[in-house]
Amino acid sequence: MKIEKYSIGTGDRFAHQGKAQLAAIIKAKQQGCSLVPVWNKSNREHSIIGTKPADLRAEADAAVKALDWKDSYYVDADHINLNTVDSFIEPSNFFTLDVADYIGQKCDENDLKNFIAQNKKFLGTLSIPGVDAKLNITEKDLEQIGSKFLLAVKKAGEIFRHVAEKKGADNSVTEVSMDESNQPQTPVEMFFILSAIAAEKIPAQTIAPKFTGRFNKGVDYVGDVAQFEKEFNEDIAVINFSIKQFGLPANLKLSVHSGSDKFSIYQPIKRALKKTGAGIHLKTAGTTWLEEVIGLAIAGGEGLTIAKEVYKQALEHFDELCGPYATVIDINPAKLPTSDEVAKWDSEKYAKTLRHDLDCPDYNPNFRQLIHVGYKIAANMGARYINALEKFETTIAQTVTENIYDRHIKRIFID
Ligand SMILES: [Zn+2]
Repeated sequence: MKIEKYSIGTGDRFAHQGKAQLAAIIKAKQQGCSLVPVWNKSNREHSIIGTKPADLRAEADAAVKALDWKDSYYVDADHINLNTVDSFIEPSNFFTLDVADYIGQKCDENDLKNFIAQNKKFLGTLSIPGVDAKLNITEKDLEQIGSKFLLAVKKAGEIFRHVAEKKGADNSVTEVSMDESNQPQTPVEMFFILSAIAAEKIPAQTIAPKFTGRFNKGVDYVGDVAQFEKEFNEDIAVINFSIKQFGLPANLKLSVHSGSDKFSIYQPIKRALKKTGAGIHLKTAGTTWLEEVIGLAIAGGEGLTIAKEVYKQALEHFDELCGPYATVIDINPAKLPTSDEVAKWDSEKYAKTLRHDLDCPDYNPNFRQLIHVGYKIAANMGARYINALEKFETTIAQTVTENIYDRHIKRIFID
């Protein structure tokens, strides 16, 4: 199984927007852009919402059938590890092996020795086509990089073999993800990580590094865009060089775990893809849930009532909701409206405050981030929330499709 050059991760927390998401990809196809969908959902999301990996497969299959999608599509066991992978194996065909927790943890001495020996040929000056800087690699560098990342790669190997044993090695796509770590990986680190991945015989088709800058959930990129662009281009160069050096899958590409909506780096990404001809996997998971809330608000009536209640309760459970996401959100509580204020809002005011339109004076990133992590509130509403999604399907579907197509796909993949 070989993933296509361009793919987009369309997570969907409440599993009701599969068709609306696929509609955006069909729209791209009509514009001449071949893009394949990957429905992704992490174990954390499944457990908070009370769904199972098989539900995501059912959603994807149903959407594909309903819209008569003939190209490939994938179901991603997102951010899994050895403890959580089992229930994902049967329904998934894309596995995001999350080994970020092992970065910096001590690896086996012999493994480290082997790693250094295998990479000795790169000592001294290393020039990678597409990377301007002359790199000088010392044995100390190898030791440091190995000590930092080798255990993580070994763990990825364990998960890969566990999946391959049950599913067959060629029946899924493998991604190695290190994005949920504190420090970005440099292009040189990435090169030796890929060396270790190849030595571990993991046929990685996508790799998700942690890029420079902050990737807060659901809001724009915070960081040095020029530095990001430089590193992103260097990462592509490193991948191309590594494919040849280490015999990794020829379609190996970067996976950007965007946390959604990193609009200010979309142009640099687009330029890099154009210039280099590289492929990409773009995960934009959480935005669909926000579009559901926007759709409910626009629908008015019970929809708007639910949208307001989600905010009210999210505010009341601020610490509990924000805790697990502490490293990927940045909310200034002083800039959050009170629930009494929100209670007076009409549909338009609510939608404009939440929608990620940087030109709109009502847009409030603090409000948006709190709703983003507030999906547990909707999950606790149970049937009431799901019934509203079904009742207002048409309005919501429109906001979901428009968001994925206009704000994401168009900005990266369409000229
Ligand atoms: Zn991620």
